[in-house]
Amino acid sequence: GPNSQRLLEKQSNVDSSAVAYPNNIPLAFEEGKGATLKDADGNVFLDFFAGIGVYNVGHANPYVNEGVHEQIDKLTHTVDFPTEPRLDLIEKLDDIAPGSLSGNSRVVFGGPTGSDAVEASIKLAKYNTGGNGLLAFRNSYHGATSGAMSITSNKKFKKPYAPLLADVVHAPFPYPFQEGRDPEASVEHALDEVQAIIEQPYGGLADPAGIFVEPIQGEGGVVTPPEGFLQGLRDIADDNDLPLVFDEIQVGMGRTGEWWGSQHYDVTPDVMTMAKALGGNGQPLSATLYKEELDSWGPGDHAGTYRGHVPAMVGGLRAIEYIESHDLLDHATAVGEQIRSRLRDAAEDDPGLGEVRGKGLFVGAEFVDEAGDPDKDRVEAIQQYCYEHGVLVWTAGQYSNVVRLLPPLVLTERQAEVGTEVIADAIAATAD
Ligand code: PMP
Repeated sequence: GPNSQRLLEKQSNVDSSAVAYPNNIPLAFEEGKGATLKDADGNVFLDFFAGIGVYNVGHANPYVNEGVHEQIDKLTHTVDFPTEPRLDLIEKLDDIAPGSLSGNSRVVFGGPTGSDAVEASIKLAKYNTGGNGLLAFRNSYHGATSGAMSITSNKKFKKPYAPLLADVVHAPFPYPFQEGRDPEASVEHALDEVQAIIEQPYGGLADPAGIFVEPIQGEGGVVTPPEGFLQGLRDIADDNDLPLVFDEIQVGMGRTGEWWGSQHYDVTPDVMTMAKALGGNGQPLSATLYKEELDSWGPGDHAGTYRGHVPAMVGGLRAIEYIESHDLLDHATAVGEQIRSRLRDAAEDDPGLGEVRGKGLFVGAEFVDEAGDPDKDRVEAIQQYCYEHGVLVWTAGQYSNVVRLLPPLVLTERQAEVGTEVIADAIAATAD
């Protein structure tokens, strides 16, 4: 519409050239409610991307917003000085932490971005082990600051800024669909590589400090590793006395129908990073949660001004309470399955829709062309069709050939049905 056009044009004249949104979704936004977004011209869309996984409790969630409003009028920032909301959130995070981390965790808050939490996790691993080598994975994304870029695998992000952290080696992340292997072979291959990198004299990491992995890859294309992979990493980390660090920034906070991606595999990390949905209603907040045994920093050894933003802590606490009181984890599981099942039906007579995957309300649909190569053009066409029919979907994957859905967990069954029908229509309309 005209208002969106006007704002987009203005943005292109005044904003950084680094701003990024898909050109085939020419929208400016005005307000959000639940799982819907209203653009600057009053058109309402179903929101299946939720600010890239920020609005797990929906836009303008009344319970979360009420607490944040009250807190803004009371007190917003105390650096590291204690406040009730800060301590309540720390206790709540410990409460919902996976496995043996629960009851045995410490948390260091970061500033607004996930990258901040990733930096803290790298420093924590180095500090505790005295090592400097970081083992990360291909097809990963961990953020835009220097350390986080170092463990990110995509060269596009890193090349202009090299050298970054020197001692980083990327092992394969099991991705059976793209590798053309069966899941077991894919896991075995990945774990053999990890073991070699860490343990063999010619393996590549002289002095490893930790293993850094997304339990389910997000930007890489909603890649759910097969059973056995994360457990294998757990075993290798234990054998070598290395911290196992899970980046839960995109998949954590209930997105997948469990609080944490790791819980689908029953594997507990030593350290986990969180951000995005952590601040509840888009309040900027990140955190690194780790087992108590790693709590060896002295006061001020890792510092930061904006790790005491009290409204964000209230937002996070209330978001967790809201997810609990509305049973949104089970809801995400059921509705996510509903969406995947409909998309799998669509895949049946469409060889271009290669794989539908994900957990809970984290859904990926990967598209290939006749030769089996990534089909980015089709994904763009699907995204555009959906936009034109009132549904906003996102993309992912190193070849941008995955439709990625991460709607708010408050998405109703009816909204899921309507949205998924549009996506299925888009798939049909773009089939050759
Ligand atoms: N880790 C993961 C898994 C992510 O998905 C992201 C963001 N997409 C980040 C880290 C970086 O977070 P931020 O953009 O908030 O710095």
